[in-house]
Order: sequence, then structure tokens, then C-alpha cells
Amino acid sequence: MTQSQTGYRIEPDTPVQFLKGVGPSKAQIFAGLGVQTVADLLEYYPRDYVFAPKPTPIADLMPEQDVTILGVIESTDFYIHRRPPIFEATVTDGTGRCRIVWFHGAFLQKQLKAGQIILATGKVTLYKHNLQLTNPKFAVVDPEKDIDEHHFSGGVYPAAANLSSPNIKNIIRPVLEHTERFVVELYTDSFLKKNQLIDRAGAFHWIHDPPDEEKIAKAKRRLKFDEFFLMQLGLAIRRYRSRHFTIAPKLPVTKKIDSRIRKRFPFLLTEDQDKAIADIVNDLADTTPMNRLLQGDVGSGKTVVALYAALAAVANKKQVAIMAPTEILAAQHFQSIERYLRDSDVTCLMLTGGITGAKRKELLSTIKSGDINIVVGTVAILQNDVEFKKLGLVVIDEQHKFGVEQRSKLRKQHVPHCLVMTATPIPRTLAMTAFGDLDVSIIKHSPPGRGQTITRWVERANQRKAEEFIAQRLRAGRQAYFVYPRITGDDSSDIKAATDEWQNLKTNIFPQFKVELLHGQMPSEKKQRVMDDFRKGKIDVLVSTVVIEVGVDVPNATVMVIEGADRFGLAQLHQLRGRIGRGQAKSYCFLFAETENEIAKSRLDMMTRSNDGFEIAEHDLRLRGPGELFSTRQHGLPDLKIANIIDDYELLMLARREAFELISQDPMLTKPANLNIRKALTEKFGESLGLADIA
Ligand code: ADP
Ligand code: MG
Repeated sequence: MTQSQTGYRIEPDTPVQFLKGVGPSKAQIFAGLGVQTVADLLEYYPRDYVFAPKPTPIADLMPEQDVTILGVIESTDFYIHRRPPIFEATVTDGTGRCRIVWFHGAFLQKQLKAGQIILATGKVTLYKHNLQLTNPKFAVVDPEKDIDEHHFSGGVYPAAANLSSPNIKNIIRPVLEHTERFVVELYTDSFLKKNQLIDRAGAFHWIHDPPDEEKIAKAKRRLKFDEFFLMQLGLAIRRYRSRHFTIAPKLPVTKKIDSRIRKRFPFLLTEDQDKAIADIVNDLADTTPMNRLLQGDVGSGKTVVALYAALAAVANKKQVAIMAPTEILAAQHFQSIERYLRDSDVTCLMLTGGITGAKRKELLSTIKSGDINIVVGTVAILQNDVEFKKLGLVVIDEQHKFGVEQRSKLRKQHVPHCLVMTATPIPRTLAMTAFGDLDVSIIKHSPPGRGQTITRWVERANQRKAEEFIAQRLRAGRQAYFVYPRITGDDSSDIKAATDEWQNLKTNIFPQFKVELLHGQMPSEKKQRVMDDFRKGKIDVLVSTVVIEVGVDVPNATVMVIEGADRFGLAQLHQLRGRIGRGQAKSYCFLFAETENEIAKSRLDMMTRSNDGFEIAEHDLRLRGPGELFSTRQHGLPDLKIANIIDDYELLMLARREAFELISQDPMLTKPANLNIRKALTEKFGESLGLADIA
């Protein structure tokens, strides 16, 4: 009774190839869409819905009406040179003739052909005395099938060449008859009721074959909730495991230790720094490993807080590893830490990938012996041959460049407390997801006495004026950064490159100043020398690529030019700009950009309006969508197919509360009522959550 045509019983793991209407070639197309099995197919959701009311005869169309028309395509045209390019179809239904146009409709050339029957829903507009439909929703109707409502209303699927949306609909529809049998419910009735969720099998049915809009909304809510809930459970379990299955050393901070550490800083800590430190001190006093994210804008004083934590560990006779994403940043940390530690007994060394052979061996043995208190470096510290005698704390700077993998790798090796710092302000949505297993401390306000930073978007025509202004700042003794999108130019594009422009700036624009080049492909020592000279003020203008993005701290540099600023993302622009505005003087950031791209314009605009990293990050997330900024995979989380962390924020919060509540009651999901949740979770996360260890 539940057999497909080819004699296979349809199960979630049945390959789609064995479904009616799918052969090897369609199966291959499906594979390209990420659909291998029936379970995948059920999660291949419509991107939109069409509900076709009774078609209106074309002869009866009136301007401004919302209508559906049904007719035959007489002809199609694509006007590539119009702005925007237009795809046009002329449709007749026996009563009259009507034009349908789609802006940017290049993709329709493959889908719509003369002779097809089309159903289109949209608003009637008047264009040059003719009625037309503009950008309507549409479906191609299969004349072989009866033209009943079923064939042209309902889901519209993301299609591929040779696999149209109606194709997909016809393949999925018979499968839906089996969902009652094989889609298992995850939750108890009371849980469903409490959270106003419909049953899971029903949700799959309605998402693909909804009778009305209300059912779509309910189905979506349920399926989105499930995605969030499973993701949050994964985070809750990760957190539970690290808190309860591992033990870290107690590192109490006494009054004496506290005042000894504070004496190291030539300034009073800010209120926000004090708050973050209080959180950390609290964490360190316990054997539960600290897993804290320290968030704060560039220059807000995170490094100082991290150093406080490091010295607390050292005071408790433990070692500390501080890791940065690049050698330049590691060196920067190392230098500033050494400065703070001058004339103290604390020992600190720098370990990077560039250090090899006998030198490396020697460093490793001092680390292993416990003689070295603080090791600063890049990820190289994580390499297996590095052994600590008594690692008590790990500080990871610029977490967004590491990802969870490294974090968990570290946890397996040792069980130190862990402090993650990030200068990319993380919007609350990401704090709930990508970093959802961490506790969070935020430094909102930067230390006092910082000069204002003024940002201007400069178009080509005004570039000369900006350069004159910069020369004037340089004459006043200030320093400047010039940042370029690439190191060397190529003839095929007009993107300016650091190496070429360095020559130009040196010889033509600022001949009376010392102009130097810095980029990632230069040898380490050379880079270091240039940085040192810039810090000492021996260089006036530093021409660079984004290698200066992180960590460089030269308060006298008060001018920055970002060339081709339209090519950089908001987060990156903000990071770059964080290199200036570090001293008391006013700073100036010039965004050199020439663009017609609306999104790029909106980014540049935002930069001139705001200096607030959090505001900028939220705006960025909105502009780009979470997909680009936040890859779930990269963070070891399952894909979100229907839920969206921005649009569905309320539901995300609900799912998070429920998930953390459930794990507090049944940490490893061993209760019978939670068996199906546990299975679903293992399918999503694989064994990375360690649920199998318990069974
Ligand atoms: P971040 O790591 O967040 O980018 P840093 O800790 O490197 O910030 O601090 C940036 C600059 O501000 C450094 O020059 C540092 O010496 C200075 N600074 C940090 N905290 C304070 C404070 N409480 N008062 C004055 N200056 C501070
Ligand atoms: Mg820093």
C-alpha cells in the first residue's frame, strides 16, 4: 500500500531517484540542489506560494487591480539593453492580449517559451496607454494535466535547469501521503500546546501543500522552531558538557593579587573593564571551566582585561597561552604585554610558525618546564608538540577568525579556562547562535580622552583636496595610513593596488614625506621593521593592504585613507578605521570610492554616520543577510533551511529558552520522552555532541 511505483517502500532515507518521476538524470539535478533522500526532499521548501483566485478575463482588466490571468504565451522578448533589463511575454486568453514584464528577468529566458500556458498574479499597471502586469508571480501550467487548482496554486520551488518548480511539486506531492507514517513527532503534547506548535508531520504536509495562507504560517513556525531548537540544544549540550564533564583549576583572585595586577596599568580601568574583570574573576574562582566571550569595539580596552586575567592565572602559578590570528597581531600583543610587565618577574615569550629548528625546541622546553608564564603566538601554539606544564588559561583573540573547531580541539588537550576576545561587535543574533554556548561580557564604552573620528566619503573629483588636507596633517606631525584592496595591480582592472600607489604617493603626492610599504607577502622581519619604524614615527605614511586590519596601535596616526572602500565589507571598514582615533587628537577617515551599487553606497553612508561598532554590525547583518556573514557550518552548527536568525529572532529566543530548560532537566536526553529529540539531534550534529558516549 505504501509502495512507490518502482516497488520501493518510501522511507526518509529512500534515495529520491526511486521516486515516481525521478530517474538518474533528475536525481543528479536534485543532488546538485543538496537533495539526496526523501528526508532531504521534505526539507526542500517552496520559496514562495501562489494562490490563484479565479482568473480574470484579459478583456476585463482595469488599472491598479490585483488580478490573476490565465493564457497562452504568444511571444517572448528579452531587452538586455534597457535599464533595468526586461523580459517580456505577450499573453492571450481569447478575450484579449496583455503584456507581462519582469525587470531583471534574464533567468526567465529558459523558463518561459511561446506556446506555454501561464498563470500570472499581480497588479495591473498602465504603461504607454497599454495595460500590463509588472513583475507578477507566475506558474507555468502543464496542459497535459487537467487545469485544476492543484496544478497552478501552492508552492513555488527554487528550480533548476530541467527541473522546474511544477516538476518538483509533482514529485513531492505523492510523498506527502507518507509523512504521517514516517515523520516522527519530537515533542510531547503539552510542549506543543504550550508553545503553540502544530505537529511535525502536519507541518511538512502544509508547507508543501497548503490549503491557505494560515496553514503556511503555522507550518513555517513549526519547522523554523525545530531548526532553532535543535541548534540551541546542540549549544546547550556543548555548554553542559564543558561545564560538568571537565574541571579547570581554581584561580582565586585575592585583594592583594588584584591590587598588584592593577598597579601594572598606567591608568584607571574603565567601568566596563571593571565589570568584565568582575565576571572573569568570578569564573576563575570556580572549577567549572570559564568559557567567556569578551566583546568590545576596537580599542575599547579588551587586551588590558585579558592581561588582567592572564596575570591572575600567573599569580596562581599557572601558565597562560594568548593566541592571535596573525603574526603581526601576536607580535603587537607581545610587545604591549612586555611593556606592561616591565620590571616584573612574569616571564613571557612569543611562539610563531616562523620559529623553527633548534630555536623552537628550546622555546618548547622552557614552556614544558613551566619556567615561562605567558606564551603569546598564533594558532601555532595549538600544534601538538607544544606542551605546557600547567596551562590554566587560554586567551583567544579575534575569535571570528578561528571558529569553534580550534576551541574544542583546545578543550580536549587541556582543560584550561578560556577567554575569547572579539573586536568584531557581534550582533545579539549571532551572540545567540554562533557563540551561543559562551557567557558574554561586553565593553561598551572606550577609555576616556579619545579624539573624535570624522569619516568622509570622497569621490574621485575631491580626492586632490583630501590629499592636500592630509599633507597639512602630516606637516603638523601626524601620521597616516593608506589602505588598498590588493597588493599588486593587474592590467584587466582599474582597482588600485598598494605597490603601484606606493610609488605614486612617494614620488608625486607626498614627495617631502617618508612613505613606506607594508603588505602580507613581505618577509616577517621586514614587516616587523616597517611596523616598528611607523610606531616610532620614522615613517609618515604607511601604504598597506588589510594586514593592518587588526591590532596595530599607533595613537599618533590620525588619518586613514581607504582606497576602493566600496569593495570592503562594513565590518572590515570599521575594523580598519579602528586603527585611528586612538589618541586625544581628532582623526579623519577618508573613504575613496566611486560606485553606483546601492548596497555599497548604503555601506559607505553608514560609515560616515556611525562610529558605533554594534550599530554597524547590525546594519551589516541586515544588508548582507545572515547567510554571508554567518555560516552555520563554519561554526559546527547544522544548516538553517527555513529559519532566519534575523527575521525570526523572537522564535529563536523562544527555542533557546526551551532548549536550555530541557537540557537543565535532562542533560544528555536520556529520558524516554526525549528519545526522538535525541535521535534528530544525532542526525543533525553527528557524534560531535558526544551523545553516544552516554547511551
Ligand atoms: P582592544 O584590545 O580592545 O583593541 P586595548 O586593550 O589594546 O584595546 O586598548 C587600546 C588602547 O587603550 C591601548 O593603548 C591601551 O593602553 C589604552 N587603554 C586601555 N584601557 C585604558 C583605560 N582604562 N584608560 C586609558 N587608556 C586605556
Ligand atoms: Mg587589541
